Amino acid sequence: MRLLRQLELGFRDTDILSVVAGVGDPGAAVSPESFQAVYSKHQDVDLEEKARELLRTNGACRIAMEIRVEWNARLKTCAGRADYSCKLISLNPRLCDHGATEIDRTLRHEIAHLLAHFRAGHRRILPHGIEWQQACRDLGVADEERCHNLPFPVCERVRRYLYKCPNCQCEFPRVRRARRAVACLECCRAHNGGEFDARFRLRLVSIR
Ligand SMILES: [Zn+2]
Ligand SMILES: [Zn+2]
Repeated sequence: MRLLRQLELGFRDTDILSVVAGVGDPGAAVSPESFQAVYSKHQDVDLEEKARELLRTNGACRIAMEIRVEWNARLKTCAGRADYSCKLISLNPRLCDHGATEIDRTLRHEIAHLLAHFRAGHRRILPHGIEWQQACRDLGVADEERCHNLPFPVCERVRRYLYKCPNCQCEFPRVRRARRAVACLECCRAHNGGEFDARFRLRLVSIR
């Protein structure tokens, strides 16, 4: 029996996959399209050039040609995101408050995802597995942590509920208690084709 009627890619900015259990849920998310209409995005040609060069020097010429880097205000708590199919790296504009070093580190973290994917070909790999770790070393960020979430101090104050993915151990601070079943998007993508999977359902670990 299928209990969950609808899957929804809500809260994408925090890597959470949210599931609507019924019709008429008051918490139903606004469609991604309408968000995009509200929040601006813009391309960054300088960072794009840097990304292109890093990919080229690491033997990924084919994706170096296609790479795009953009600032996307839709990202909230996560610092960046890499989409291999679009060859697109999105960065959180709030990174600018953290200085050039943090921007560079995040850019390399995301490039490492693309590089690892490129090298793996059709073989499936874990988002922050050994292939990604190797790519990080090649890109000069050997000690990179796997979580994308930045410690944005303004936001952290109001995010009282701390959830954790039982699989990758990534933390998801939230303002409100989750009323719907929420799962780690990255793990659902890696192990269940992007569909909700109860194995990766987030667990509430603390309330402040
Ligand atoms: Zn990552
Ligand atoms: Zn996870």
